[in-house]
Amino acid sequence: MDNKKELKKTYSNDEITVVWQPGMCIHSKKCWKGLIEVFDPREKPWIKLDGATNEQIKHQIDQCPSKALSYQLNNM
Ligand code: SF4
Repeated sequence: MDNKKELKKTYSNDEITVVWQPGMCIHSKKCWKGLIEVFDPREKPWIKLDGATNEQIKHQIDQCPSKALSYQLNNM
């Protein structure tokens, strides 16, 4: 069994929860090349939601080719 694929980490602010599934990441680097203020692989935690607006974060997540990054709206 490869449990890595199941691993999920979440990062929340008031409005959104970002879900990161490392086992699905294909390391396209799109997220951090597009929005390093939020997605910085050199940092821990590597996702910091206070680095940009929610609109910017959602827009960047929509471009993740593997769907390793996704988000939910908290009040849905
Ligand atoms: S954009 Fe998606 S697939 Fe690419 S590095 Fe970021 S999380 Fe991984």
